[in-house]
Formats: sequence, C-alpha cells, structure tokens
Amino acid sequence: MHADKLLEGKVAIVTGGGSGIGRASALDMARRGAKVGFLDRTPEEAEKVKAEIEREGGEAWVAATDVSDAKAVEQGINEIVERFGRLDIVFANAGINGVWTTLEDMEVEDWDQTLGINLRGTFLTLKYAVPHLKKQAGGSIIITSSINGNRIFNNTGATAYSASKAGQVALMKMAALELAPHRIRVNAVCPGAIETNIDDNTERTEEAEQAKIPVEYPEGSHPLAGKPGKAAQVADLVTYLASDLASHVTGTDIYIDGAESLL
Ligand code: NAD
Repeated sequence: MHADKLLEGKVAIVTGGGSGIGRASALDMARRGAKVGFLDRTPEEAEKVKAEIEREGGEAWVAATDVSDAKAVEQGINEIVERFGRLDIVFANAGINGVWTTLEDMEVEDWDQTLGINLRGTFLTLKYAVPHLKKQAGGSIIITSSINGNRIFNNTGATAYSASKAGQVALMKMAALELAPHRIRVNAVCPGAIETNIDDNTERTEEAEQAKIPVEYPEGSHPLAGKPGKAAQVADLVTYLASDLASHVTGTDIYIDGAESLL
C-alpha cells in the first residue's frame, strides 16, 4: 500500500485532538485515510480540526469529554464507535502540565488534577477502548508520555507531571503484555519540548522558579535542530506506530526530542 494511505479503512480515537500534538496527529491520520473521533474537553477546538479534516474530504466526529471523567469517557468512546462502526487506533494524548511548584506548596487538589487527567485519563481511555479493539482482533494504542517520565533535567517543580508521565510508561508496558495475545500493540511516545499551547496553561509558582536548578545548555538548547520540535514531527511517529509498518513494535517508549534528553 502507498504510504499516503497507510491507515485506509481504520478508525482512530484521539484524546486532546483539539490542539498541539493531538491536532497534528489527527490531521495526519485523517490524511492517511483514517476516520477520526475526538475526545476533548474543549470541543470547540476539536470541531475546528474536524472541519479541517472534512474540507480535505475526510471523516471525523467530536465527543465533548473530560478524560478524567469515567462515565464521559465510556460514553464518548461508545458514541464514536457507534458512528464509525469499529475501532483500530487509540491515541491517548490529552494532558496538562498542571501546577509546577515545590513539594510543600503543592496543593493536594493540584496533584490530583494532574494525575487525574494525565494518568487516570489514560487508564480510562484504555479501559473503555480495549473491548472495541478486541472485536477487530488487533489494534494500536499510542500514549503520549514525555521525556520527563524518565529523565528530570531543568524542571524542578514538575513533580506531579513527571510522576504522571512515568506512570503512563509503566501502564503502557503492562497493557502491552496483557494485550499482546489479542494482537493489540501498545507504545508510548516521549516528546521533548514541542511547540504547542501547553505552556500557556502551565502555572509555575515563584517557589518553583527559585528552586530551579541552573543548568548551562550548550548553545542552542536542542542538539539536533537548535530549537524545540514541531507537533507535526511527533505526528509522523504516531502515524508510524498506528500503522502496520510497526507490526512488531509493542511495549516500547520512543523518545522524540532531538537528543535533548542526552544533554
Ligand atoms: P496542548 O495544550 O496544545 O493540547 C492539549 C489538548 O488536550 C487540548 O486540546 C486540551 O483541550 C486537551 N485536554 C486537556 N485536558 C483534557 C481533559 N481533561 N480531557 C480532555 N481533553 C483534555 O498540549 P500538547 O503539548 O499538544 O500536549 C499533548 C500531550 O503531549 C500531553 O499529554 C503532554 O503532556 C504531552 N507532551 C507535550 C510536550 C510539549 O513540549 N508540548 C512535551 C512532552 C509531552
């Protein structure tokens, strides 16, 4: 099959598809032939991406969903599967940076919110998607973790975020083992800094700024390109993992960071 239509006939669900990495991946998967269902808590943004897909001749559907809400996730996934008749690809990508601060100043509610969206939200997405994937006797799940799940560099204060991202990698590995007999592959992408809207929604307290460990980056803080990556570059990796080109790839966390994590 020509690479252009790698995902022809497949149905994908993308959480957090209204912006950034999710948006770029949804557009790319649709261009490769997939029908795309969105679960996003800002449905008006996801509707804009849906409209873009439709203008290009593709099909999409939006289910307004907060991924930390179990009932809403179950309903949203069922709505999309009812609409398109099957499910082959799940991109569990919705996430927030949340509040970055010291351990003492971290409010319990802020910890719960970050873990609730990033980790519980990923679990809920998998929990309610897996029965549909099993019906196809195959499928691909991709989780957006982060290099922060493993390597802690200049991000003092990102305690809840890093814990949630590490948890996603552990969840991915367990799910990959459990689902292998069903021919369902599960992988994580771990981006470094990528230009998206996520930083606009991050609250970094003064204490966290002060606690920040000063690190000298070599000139240009990103070795490969000298600057953060683009959402479309992550989308290329997501599409690869979603496709049959990755038929023997499962249980893996893949860094996509231009060697940022090697500094
Ligand atoms: P973004 O803010 O541009 O997009 C996030 C999307 O998730 C938005 O559409 C938002 O509405 C949605 N979302 C947030 N909370 C939600 C919830 N509770 N329910 C449903 N949808 C929700 O951010 P992004 O950078 O594209 O982030 C996507 C993923 O990439 C996140 O998991 C993030 O942790 C991860 N990531 C980002 C970077 C980066 O530098 N941008 C680096 C590593 C990992």
